[in-house]
Amino acid sequence: MSLEVSQKITIEKTKNSKIDQVDFNNLPFGQVYTDHMLICEFENGKWELPKIIPYQNLHLDPSAKIFHYGQSVFEGMKAYKDENNDVFLFRPIENQKRMNISAKRLAMPELPESYFMEGLETLLLLDKDWIPTTPNSSLYIRPFMFASGNGFHASPSDKYTFIIACSPSGPYFGGELKVLIEQKYSRSANGGVGYAKAGGNYAGQFYPTNLAIEKGYQQVIWTDDTSHEFIEEAGAMNIFVRINDTLVTAPTSDRILDGITRKSIIDIARDQGISVEIRRISVNELVEASENGSLKEMFGAGTAAVISPIDGFGFGDKDYILPKLEETYATKLKKQITDIQYNRSEDKFGWRQLVK
Ligand SMILES: *Cc1c(COP(=O)(O)O)cnc(C)c1O
Repeated sequence: MSLEVSQKITIEKTKNSKIDQVDFNNLPFGQVYTDHMLICEFENGKWELPKIIPYQNLHLDPSAKIFHYGQSVFEGMKAYKDENNDVFLFRPIENQKRMNISAKRLAMPELPESYFMEGLETLLLLDKDWIPTTPNSSLYIRPFMFASGNGFHASPSDKYTFIIACSPSGPYFGGELKVLIEQKYSRSANGGVGYAKAGGNYAGQFYPTNLAIEKGYQQVIWTDDTSHEFIEEAGAMNIFVRINDTLVTAPTSDRILDGITRKSIIDIARDQGISVEIRRISVNELVEASENGSLKEMFGAGTAAVISPIDGFGFGDKDYILPKLEETYATKLKKQITDIQYNRSEDKFGWRQLVK
């Protein structure tokens, strides 16, 4: 199913663009929004055609199911501009597919691929001037879907709204990243919704993360919910550990989100001749590797920061500090992935998609 875009996506343009009020050299992350948004409603068992309208507030009944039962899923992706002002997406189909995987788990309707992809491309071309050109800046894209039908009855909604909103964002400065290995709380559980990008997964993370922050850490390393012996994710990022010259990451499961950055890193690293193991990593192994010096690096991987190097981790009441290496896999892999994203290098995997 494919839309004839020009005929089917209606566009209502804004009468007063906000673009002149934006300082593109000082962009915070995710706090400035472009002039337009895509909106698409699901009603009477089917999706209506997407519309592009000026960025605006939503009107929802207080009984809307999103507020009570949390049916809400989202995606996070970016659009990049190269030196010729051409616009690129990075593996966008993966986001489209994953949103439907998330939606299905929350008993929400799947959105047709063409509504997502053609809707997104039309929106990006309309708001093209909002995609920053300052180095390592990008347009952060937030597709999301939520239950907009009414009623206090605890059942799936009969109406849903899909929106794509965009936010020009500057380069990501991570700062120090010390993480605490979580031994009590869980982000997700077997049979649960951890593999879905569901809003509620984040709600459940905030409190344990705040406790870690109070202890002087910035993030939590989530461990498996049954034994808390194996590390799974770093906050809302997938986790990589370098032991000697081998990169190790946990296998995806019910509990671990199948990150696009994660799988791209695995492919790029292997292509570079770096050995990558996809297997469980126990906290004991991590502590031993830190003590015997074989633990070289740890980093988180996700769209927003791409790669966030971890400076050290806390376990129980002990802290383990990672060495400061001259050359890291984190720096090397981040450069390679962003070179593909910004059209600065060959794209042998076919991940980059020109928006036209
Ligand atoms: C979004 C997310 C990631 C990273 O996924 P990407 O596709 O690489 O952005 C990892 N873990 C969790 C829990 C997430 O929500």
